[in-house]
Amino acid sequence: MTTHELGCIFCSIIEKKIPANIILENERVLAFHDINPAAKLHVLIIPKCHVPTINDVTKENASVMADMTLCAGEIAKKFGVDRSGYRLVVNTERGAGQTVFHLHLHLLAGREFSWPPG
Ligand code: AMP
Repeated sequence: MTTHELGCIFCSIIEKKIPANIILENERVLAFHDINPAAKLHVLIIPKCHVPTINDVTKENASVMADMTLCAGEIAKKFGVDRSGYRLVVNTERGAGQTVFHLHLHLLAGREFSWPPG
């Protein structure tokens, strides 16, 4: 059962009310290219149910994390970066750079990465 939040841009993408460059979709997740890419490959992976941040992940909805990571692995393979390397990022709350309050995994690849991240 998916719940959509009024005014949430990612819920609107799920509902196909606004367009996105979709890579993969199944009954639980949607993956699409980031509109403002921070790497050669920059994909956003979102659960179809509205969970605002990782702070809102509970025992009841924790499967969203597995759904997103399984999808990330699939996309990494699809784009041939599973062995060369990629980075998964979840910005949580404004202090860490979260701007869209619908849980999402950033999959970044195709450039050099430094550690610690900026
Ligand atoms: P965050 O700052 O971690 O919340 O990430 C939100 C991401 O969503 C940013 O990288 C934005 O570039 C991206 N974004 C915002 N609106 C759209 C959109 N309509 N289509 C694709 N990506 C988007």
